[in-house]
Amino acid sequence: MSKLPTRPLPNLSEPDTAAFWRATAEHEFRFQQCENCGTVVWHPRRHCTGCVDGSLVWQVSAGQGAIYSFSIVRQSYHPFFRNQVPYVVALVDLDEGPRFLTNVVGIDTPEAVHIGQRVMLAWEDHDDVSMPLVRPLTE
Ligand SMILES: [Zn+2]
Repeated sequence: MSKLPTRPLPNLSEPDTAAFWRATAEHEFRFQQCENCGTVVWHPRRHCTGCVDGSLVWQVSAGQGAIYSFSIVRQSYHPFFRNQVPYVVALVDLDEGPRFLTNVVGIDTPEAVHIGQRVMLAWEDHDDVSMPLVRPLTE
């Protein structure tokens, strides 16, 4: 029996992002913040994008944010994604500042998504990492 196709997964040996991906296994969305100037840095990297020489420390998001923008994908040739269509790719602003690209899940139709919509993290578990997806926030 052949293995079902999975979404592409990150390379855990990449030095700048490895700590982020390892924390996802614990369902933590980590981001960096500069100890010198306070700049929130996303995606993970070695140097502050604000002052360039401050040291970066890891913070953990509370897991809520809002849709900044999105697109509905209706056709894909990738073995995993072609079975997911139609699906929503969204830029999400976490409340702490990071803006990341993800998928919106937990919706009846893609048309249920709108800009400014409140969302929360929804983890998709894999062997060594979990993918940070989002679903609409239910109050
Ligand atoms: Zn800085």
